[in-house]
Amino acid sequence: MTVFKNSLISCQKCGRRIAVKARDFENGAIQCTHVGCGYINQLVQSYYDEHILIGLPSFGQLVYEANPTMKYPLRLGTNVVGTSPTCEVAVERFIHGDKCYISRRHCTIEVLFNKWTGRFRYQLQDGASDIDSHHYKNSLNGTMLNGYLLQNGEKMDLNDQGLLGLGGKDVFRLEAYLIPGKMLESYRISKVIEPDETQ
Ligand SMILES: [Zn+2]
Repeated sequence: MTVFKNSLISCQKCGRRIAVKARDFENGAIQCTHVGCGYINQLVQSYYDEHILIGLPSFGQLVYEANPTMKYPLRLGTNVVGTSPTCEVAVERFIHGDKCYISRRHCTIEVLFNKWTGRFRYQLQDGASDIDSHHYKNSLNGTMLNGYLLQNGEKMDLNDQGLLGLGGKDVFRLEAYLIPGKMLESYRISKVIEPDETQ
């Protein structure tokens, strides 16, 4: 069993030092004593073990709005979306009139795991790094998030059921993957925070 000593921690809000006694650790929280702050600092932090990511059945998928039977699974980490077979998410060359509006490497979706919430985050950016030169290159016809045109270098979060527009003609709906609650709880880790100094 851990023996809690009197310690100093930095307030999670104002950053100033607070003296923490053994009984505060037993209570699990301490209120900041500094004037004008009074923030309740949690002394036990809870998060989800990233080992949960091994063997998950899905990390979410993109569903083509005009034909929802067309689904494109996402992977953890970087997903370049476009018509090139070099993309992690290679989509069809959808033709409108006689033209395809989606670039070969059109946009990038970073799938990240938030260990504090146990949820996935889908960060969207127009363009992708070139497979040979590694230079970042924007798409020809732009990327839209829920009808908003992303600016150069702008990163935005694509939320569950959010709409990803490629080139102004083709729209995909994000189906985020939600880890089942029971499974998530079995990977929960609770840890007493590390003090700055122990007295
Ligand atoms: Zn404080």
